[in-house]
Amino acid sequence: SPLQAAGTSFKLPTRDKPLLLNSNESAYGFSSLVKKALDKKAADLSLYPFKAEEELRSSIARFYQVKEDNICVSNGSSAALQAAIYAVSNLANELNMPFRIINPNPTFEFPAVYAKPLGIEVVNFDLDSKFNMNIDAMKKSEREFDGISLVYLCNPNNPTGNIVSANDLYSWVRNAKQSTIFLIDEAYAEYVIDPAFKSGIDILKDGAKNVIVTRTFSKIYGLAGLRVGYAVTTPELQRRIKDFLQLAGINVCGAVASTAALADFNFRQYCVNSNVKSRQIVTKALDSLGLRYAPSHANFIFHEITGSYDDFAKNMRNQNILVGRQFAKFDNFCRVTLGTPQQAEYYVKVLKTFRQKRYI
Ligand code: PLP
Repeated sequence: SPLQAAGTSFKLPTRDKPLLLNSNESAYGFSSLVKKALDKKAADLSLYPFKAEEELRSSIARFYQVKEDNICVSNGSSAALQAAIYAVSNLANELNMPFRIINPNPTFEFPAVYAKPLGIEVVNFDLDSKFNMNIDAMKKSEREFDGISLVYLCNPNNPTGNIVSANDLYSWVRNAKQSTIFLIDEAYAEYVIDPAFKSGIDILKDGAKNVIVTRTFSKIYGLAGLRVGYAVTTPELQRRIKDFLQLAGINVCGAVASTAALADFNFRQYCVNSNVKSRQIVTKALDSLGLRYAPSHANFIFHEITGSYDDFAKNMRNQNILVGRQFAKFDNFCRVTLGTPQQAEYYVKVLKTFRQKRYI
């Protein structure tokens, strides 16, 4: 199976090799086609990555049936998010307009972190008690702002795993002010099977001019260590984002591995299906323990822990399991990567012992 090919058979975690449920990395390693492609290209490490980067950009364009000038590849999608923020901020400067970011809370923190050194205002909108984004409030704020708003929508959201539905997304993008740009972070989109979800790339292909979508090879493709991501957007925004990306900013191994990873449909499908099984294992246990959780569409789940985050993380660490960091607004919740079904079973087993010990 692809799982065996990736060398991820389950081993009991130890202190030195804990079970990593903390950073939403892939539990399945990467496709065997990636390894083959890397072996073949090892001799090219003395060369600059220009050709490999171009090949990757073409593969991504073909994959989505868009043009190459719709794509910028970047050193992880983090770099694309950063460049997009700086590009739109720069655009606002050129137009002499105020600029700010509309940000759900909690969400992936990097955009707010990147905004800070430039003094860019970040306006936070708390999720509701059902983990949904407050779209109405964000919309109202965007409509009323006399300047450029960059709406950061992490879809599925990190840490909740919840999605913004295609209906909500489409109607907002279509009716937004011309001076509003949507930065849609789809780091986990490959895991989504719910038909209510639609990628921002489809909205772009339908002609939207105000959308930047970022995606990554760090999650389902299992290449977090190689640092490759990309943005898909209009040619004009692509040029502007490129101005803020490092030249020759991705490496040969990353480009070659990502091109091969993109082509392995079977491996990706295997990971999607297996992730569904892991989710079922964890949600069944959470239901039986009466612990609430956000509707997960990604490779992690955000669930109630009843007590404090610090105690829970420490108790898990004592069992050689690392869990996700703490997030604002939901004190008694923890984000946990789902892992393989066997890892999920193990997590659930430990969780049940925590109930016996009255930790949760
Ligand atoms: N976006 C989200 C929502 C993430 O969770 C992450 C990583 O955890 C990233 C982007 C950044 O990923 P990378 O820079 O590895 O592509």
